[in-house]
Amino acid sequence: SHALVWFRHDLRIDDNQSLVAACQYAAEHQGVVRAIFVVTPKQWASHDVAPIQLDFIERQVNQLAIELAQLGIPLDICHADDFDAIPEVLLHYVNTWQMTKVFATSEPECNEQHRDKAVIEAGIELELSQQHCFLPPLSVLNLSGEMYKVFTPFAKKWRQIAKQDPIQTLTRPKPIAAPLPTPNYVEFNCTKICSGQWLVGEHAAQAKLRQFALDKVADYQASRDYPAIDGTSQLSAYLAIGILSPRQCLQVLLSHYPDALVHDESFGRCWLNELIWREFYRHLLVAFPKLSRRANFNALADNIKWRNNPREFQAWCEGRTGYPLVDAAMRQLNQTGWMHNRLRMVTASFLTKHLLVDWRWGERYFRQKLIDGDLAANNGGWQWSAGTGCDAQPYFRVFNPISQCEKFDPTGAFIRNYLPELDEVDLKLIHKLKIPTQAQLFVDTDYASPIVDHKFARTRAIAVLSAMKKGS
Ligand code: FAD
Repeated sequence: SHALVWFRHDLRIDDNQSLVAACQYAAEHQGVVRAIFVVTPKQWASHDVAPIQLDFIERQVNQLAIELAQLGIPLDICHADDFDAIPEVLLHYVNTWQMTKVFATSEPECNEQHRDKAVIEAGIELELSQQHCFLPPLSVLNLSGEMYKVFTPFAKKWRQIAKQDPIQTLTRPKPIAAPLPTPNYVEFNCTKICSGQWLVGEHAAQAKLRQFALDKVADYQASRDYPAIDGTSQLSAYLAIGILSPRQCLQVLLSHYPDALVHDESFGRCWLNELIWREFYRHLLVAFPKLSRRANFNALADNIKWRNNPREFQAWCEGRTGYPLVDAAMRQLNQTGWMHNRLRMVTASFLTKHLLVDWRWGERYFRQKLIDGDLAANNGGWQWSAGTGCDAQPYFRVFNPISQCEKFDPTGAFIRNYLPELDEVDLKLIHKLKIPTQAQLFVDTDYASPIVDHKFARTRAIAVLSAMKKGS
């Protein structure tokens, strides 16, 4: 009996339960282990997966193939247009190589869950590991046995459960056969953008994690909101495709801050909370499958009359709104494939509240650009920002993009980096912008005039979004 590991968003060898289970199975049955990755260009296009993320996945899959070869495990890169074509491709593979059992990591999204169901219905024995979260979805429930709709009690319960057992990552499987020749690089047949700025390989990812825990976690709370400071881990791209596991992150965090799970005051607590936010949104996706289909979490939001002006949306995408922090942020996204969390909140709020564009437009644009694109976190972040989501920012709280700039980019280092047009403009003026003064300010530069007046937009947003007010 032979075991097949089907890699999806768990592109690592260390701490990979599916790989460990496959190796155990093969050892018990005197079988071999093979691995497969299936390229699905049509599916990725329909999911709006960013070309930079596809390049990152391609590089990591090829790196994984090299490292698996050293363990004596061949990794085949196969092609199926979309998820519908997967059962046939897998059946063919399993029959050709006489694989008796397939091991994979479960995924929380609807289409991914249907894909796995179809594979099982096609007669393939598929064992799924629950490891895309540290605590599996539907295991952190309130007293009525339901998923929480508010983060704080979810996080409290999550910590209670997490601290019950010691956190131990799985040991790397030993070579199961002689090393295989180094495989050739296989290119995916889809549109890609170079992700070379991001190192691939789990050793690089683990080193980044350790360095962050050592140098930056203690200051995280103080520095994480300032986009000009390199104060966050920048590990999201690695977590999104599983080069790192959440358990590895926790283990490293707790090795430096063993009290992070138990003390509110622990220096590790703030970063731990972010990892819990990641879990919260993934658990929500499983508890409320409509989120995968991009429904408003709050059904009252179905009544919102979005303006959806295509010209304004385009200006937002291109970083031409005339609000420096919003524009610098969008250019960071367009140029690097990553955006700082504070700026994701500012730009999402600006699009949905100042411009009254449906959050789904912004969610889609982010997905098309982000190297860390992830349905759960992206949907959660967008619905939080728009006020339509679970535990969302209330609809009447509208970020002021000018004071956010003054507060979180006090030296102007971030905006100047992305908006060279403003080089000559005095920072004090940028931080104290008043329209129409602002319009005059930018008249001698190439920089856009503000697309909308802040005060006017705020009042308009509250009026339109009050469609979400209970009883309205
Ligand atoms: P750190 O601050 O170091 O946090 C550590 C890890 O915790 C992150 O790598 C990430 O995996 C997780 N995390 C942190 N904050 C959040 C959060 N608010 N929600 C869920 N997980 C979180 N994150 C994505 O991974 N993919 C997305 O597509 C995505 N889209 C977003 C869209 C919007 C509108 C907003 C407001 C947030 C979005 N986020 C998304 C969450 C967050 O902005 C990023 O995870 C974070 O900026 C990544 O940087 P980092 O790795 O340095 O994070």
